Amino acid sequence: MDDLKHEVYWHTTQEVEPGEPLTESVDCDVCIVGGGYAGLWTAHFLKQAEPALDIHVVEAEYSGYGASGRADGFVTPTIGKDIQALVERFGEQRTADASREVGRSILEIGRFLRRNKVDADYEPNGYLLAATSAAQMRRLEEDRALASRLSGGAGPVLMSAEETRARIGSPALIGALRTDGGLINPFKLARGLARVVREQGVVIHDRTPALRVEPGVRPTVTTAKGRVVADTVVLTTNAHQFRFAPFRNKLVPVWSYAMISEPLTDEQLGRIEWPAREGLVEAKTFLTCARFTADNRLMFAGGPALYFYGRDTDQRRMSEPRVYRELLREFERFFPMWKDVTFRYAYGGTVDITRDFAPHFGRLPGNVAYGYGFCGNGISATHLGGKVLRDLVLGKDSDYSRLLYVDDEGRKQPSFPPEPLLTVGVRGMSRLMEFKEARA
Ligand SMILES: Cc1cc2nc3c(=O)[nH]c(=O)nc-3n(C[C@H](O)[C@H](O)[C@H](O)COP(=O)(O)OP(=O)(O)OC[C@H]3O[C@@H](n4cnc5c(N)ncnc54)[C@H](O)[C@@H]3O)c2cc1C
Repeated sequence: MDDLKHEVYWHTTQEVEPGEPLTESVDCDVCIVGGGYAGLWTAHFLKQAEPALDIHVVEAEYSGYGASGRADGFVTPTIGKDIQALVERFGEQRTADASREVGRSILEIGRFLRRNKVDADYEPNGYLLAATSAAQMRRLEEDRALASRLSGGAGPVLMSAEETRARIGSPALIGALRTDGGLINPFKLARGLARVVREQGVVIHDRTPALRVEPGVRPTVTTAKGRVVADTVVLTTNAHQFRFAPFRNKLVPVWSYAMISEPLTDEQLGRIEWPAREGLVEAKTFLTCARFTADNRLMFAGGPALYFYGRDTDQRRMSEPRVYRELLREFERFFPMWKDVTFRYAYGGTVDITRDFAPHFGRLPGNVAYGYGFCGNGISATHLGGKVLRDLVLGKDSDYSRLLYVDDEGRKQPSFPPEPLLTVGVRGMSRLMEFKEARA
């Protein structure tokens, strides 16, 4: 444990030279606050639709510093927490429509990478949603039945323990659903996307936190050394969105953690069947997941998701020994053959959890649009979200602007209580979910 570096592994895979901060006043068509996937896909799709638009992005650090450069890299057809939560909230038809769209995003991300020569170590080889207990097997069966209904019959096949272990030879696995998706280096995706968006003519101001956003006929974004006045401001700051008054009680930043090993030797790799290198995700809310990186390091991630009093997002929270102890215990349960594997990196990032476990998009009075609430499943969902925000900014009534999670008068966003009730509530909710899942 003493040798662990509390540094985001993905950030070591590509050098980054943050761009210059904003030091003047700018007048433009669209100002996007937050340069992660959500903000960048929005800029990308807006520029594709209307190349003449003058778009500026203000980013507190640099693209990929936030969740988009820390994700575990599972590209999944998931919106919000999971499909069951979505059906409970929106019904089967609307969930089916949205799921089809996010499935398309998986393919389009691959196409985007190829077309723009972004090397993000993308492996579109699906992933296994796997069970390690009878309760999880029942959940997989429910997921399978639901996915079949939503897709009109052709759902995924539930694999036996033997079939599952032939794909990933962990003795903990007793069954799995093979699901469309893939693995990616999330930081390289964020950096590549930022490069392409710049090439499209978008100006990204790195190291420029927005201090204040004032709605209006022409809303204004104030930063330390300059202001941006725009026709529309788009807020895509993910787990930091609560810092803007309208969203104060609409989401909570919850920490999610990951550990990355030294590259495995051929001999270590030879101890387990894992022929297709699919990612592995355990079928529960506080899931654990495992995958290889391009250079054959093993990532083991997930475990306890932590909320800290006062919506604490300070980077010192990356060092949480109890989380890493728990992850290492789980690692031994999944992979007892790898007792000699050395973990080197241990880090975390914040995900934006909403009360209904679904993303929210919309427009506030005063020409401010927003998108947040990806609940830890944002790689594909932010791609789809970029299309939603494009149409909201352009004022277009479209299939995207009518997707299930676009807020309107009829759909108020549910709120969290203020502190100290919030801490008690979030921790209580986590325990309740764990208890329900264990009994399911
Ligand atoms: C540890 C971890 C693992 C994850 N694993 C997966 C996974 O395997 N698969 C998956 O689909 N999803 C995963 N996710 C979720 C996914 O990473 C996010 O949903 C997605 O990156 C959200 O994109 P975003 O642009 O909304 O957020 P971000 O990438 O966080 O972008 C928001 C940006 O806003 C900036 N910002 C904040 N405040 C301000 C301000 N005041 N002014 C200017 N800029 C500001 C931040 O610096 C940041 O760059 C994971 C998340 C974490 C943290």
